[in-house]
Amino acid sequence: MKTIGLIGGMSWESSAEYYRIVNQEMKERLGGHRNAQSVMVTVSFEEIRALQHEARWDELGERMKSAALQVQAAGADFVVLCTNTMHRVAPAVEAALDIPLVHIVDPTAHALHEAGVTRVGLLGTAFTMEQDFYRGRMQERHGIEVVVPAAAERALVHHIIYDELCHGIVRDESRDAYRRIIEGLRAEGVEGVILGCTEITLLISQDDVPIPVFDTTALHAQAAVTKALL
Ligand code: GLU
Repeated sequence: MKTIGLIGGMSWESSAEYYRIVNQEMKERLGGHRNAQSVMVTVSFEEIRALQHEARWDELGERMKSAALQVQAAGADFVVLCTNTMHRVAPAVEAALDIPLVHIVDPTAHALHEAGVTRVGLLGTAFTMEQDFYRGRMQERHGIEVVVPAAAERALVHHIIYDELCHGIVRDESRDAYRRIIEGLRAEGVEGVILGCTEITLLISQDDVPIPVFDTTALHAQAAVTKALL
């Protein structure tokens, strides 16, 4: 079994989910007490959040690079960056590593293909919904069309992520807001919705939504387990 290298802390609320899922999933696949072998480096989200909101992506690239090198030095066979947003700097991280990075878009796209979804809604941080690094990879590498909510709704989705979910606050009103926004995307003809922020899984599950949901936290963590067993 290979050793999974997790970069966590963005936020730790979702890193805990990754840790739970990789271990649970490994145990389900192999039985007994066979949990996943892993190392995790946790960064301080306060600093990361501030740099993101000041658009200091080069510095963020350096931070992620150094976390990834720590994970590599600790014996990881590959790296899992436990956040969608920070894949904005994935190319810089990949260039610094001798081991592979499992890009969060790829297992998500794989699940979309398996479900036959070619036009999908995306909820995530403003960075993920508005910049090209995520939608571009979905479209260009995987041929999947991505639809995002309107500006006011994007702002609400973003606010709920940073001010509630990343603090572990889960409110029914926020769930209702997300459901309304997903309903609006459905009216625009999407066949499914990507929970494109690793904390959204704390708020929304398949039971809340009438179209298929693609939970990036679970899909990414499951892909890590598959890779660890290759
Ligand atoms: N965990 C979130 C994501 O998947 C947001 C936190 C961050 O900015 O990294 O995008």
